[in-house]
Amino acid sequence: MDVTLQTRTQRRLYNVGFLLMLLFCPAITWYVTIAIRHYDGALVLPDAAFLSHVAPPSLASLAFYVAWFALQLALATLLPGRIEQGVPLEDGRTLGYRMNGLAAFVLSLALGAGLVLADVVPATFLHDQLDALVTTANLLVLGLCCYIYAIGRNQATPKERLLNPLEAYVIGAALNPRTRSLDWKFFCESRPGMILWILLNFSFAAAQVARHGTLSNAMVLVCAFQLLYVADYFVMEEAILTTWDIRHEPFGFMLCWGCLVWIPFTFSLQGLYLVDHPRDLSWAAAIALVLFNCAGYAIFRGANLQKHRFRKSPDTKMWGKTPSFIQTQRGTKLLVSGFWGIARHSNYLGDLMMGLAWCMTTGSSRVLPYFYFIYFFILLIHRERRDHDHCARKYGADWDAYTARVRWRILPFVY
Ligand code: NDP
Repeated sequence: MDVTLQTRTQRRLYNVGFLLMLLFCPAITWYVTIAIRHYDGALVLPDAAFLSHVAPPSLASLAFYVAWFALQLALATLLPGRIEQGVPLEDGRTLGYRMNGLAAFVLSLALGAGLVLADVVPATFLHDQLDALVTTANLLVLGLCCYIYAIGRNQATPKERLLNPLEAYVIGAALNPRTRSLDWKFFCESRPGMILWILLNFSFAAAQVARHGTLSNAMVLVCAFQLLYVADYFVMEEAILTTWDIRHEPFGFMLCWGCLVWIPFTFSLQGLYLVDHPRDLSWAAAIALVLFNCAGYAIFRGANLQKHRFRKSPDTKMWGKTPSFIQTQRGTKLLVSGFWGIARHSNYLGDLMMGLAWCMTTGSSRVLPYFYFIYFFILLIHRERRDHDHCARKYGADWDAYTARVRWRILPFVY
């Protein structure tokens, strides 16, 4: 957000929006968890009975969350990994990032499995503690955002210092707040949140077995689909360095809370719903969902890899041919081959297809089991518009030439 480009009224409106965001975002995580868990995923008006499910932090949830965060910090800082350089910053510097996410992911899952097998914690622990855990994670992460704010303010550029305290807390006081070599944005984008998402899914699967004595194929599918998504993220960890979030998004409440609370507790809602709806999909439906998810994955991964490889080495063959591109005045090249010649954001299409497949495993006629897809659809449409404006400003006439050649934004012949 460039405050130098805003009128006073615009800035005031944004600030009201930020206050509402601080109030409503945590409230939504409670709402959807309670509605799915205790009201069969129905959209209900929260009355006193509903609100009675908002649990205070329990000792177990506090101990777990603190230990979990400390474990992820230790793994990120102590595990070996090659150092990748990020894209150049505005001042020409590049920052190094340690690529040890896959090892941290595997070790975290192994540790979780070990603790369950050794009977130290029950497999249903996260499910049993869920109501308290949502509160605990919200409170602790709001506190962490204060710390991120403080170090961000210290490390901010003169332009970033123009933000008032509310703006700096919500959007982020600096682009890459760091404590020694630990980059808080890179760390929080994946480790404590995304790995917890997968552990929550496994705990929901265990809860389904404990309650109904059966593991439905829908639960198996949603756990497998999301495990693939997160494992892929860590296998391709270096590709995150060229994403919008790492390059352009300051690190504050929006990203920090989004990655640490929103991702684990709302992306896992399909599994939570299935705990008490242990339905088995027909073979035809299961195969169709597997194919749909795999097609989404192939488009998502294929498009992201094509851009990543092209930017590293523009001569790399794409679908058997040397790729075509538009050479921009800024010096960078815009790819017009492969997925990038079909639509400007095929990667978003693939991601949305996967999201839809996950939600469809629930087979529900209610709205909330589809919460992830609805939210993600809005997010990616907005993000595509924002990226479009950013590229139009950055590339000028070259962007016009690109958009004239690649007409569709996300879905060919539709959008
Ligand atoms: P992209 O990876 O699509 O990056 C957009 C940038 O790529 C543009 O700003 C431009 O940057 C460059 N670019 C655009 N067109 C071209 C082209 N034709 N050739 C070469 N470079 C081009 O966007 P995101 O960072 O938003 O998304 C990355 C992935 O992360 C996506 O798959 C998305 O679905 C996923 N994602 C997932 C989320 C989740 O919550 N699960 C949330 C957000 C994203 P430049 O300045 O370099 O030219």
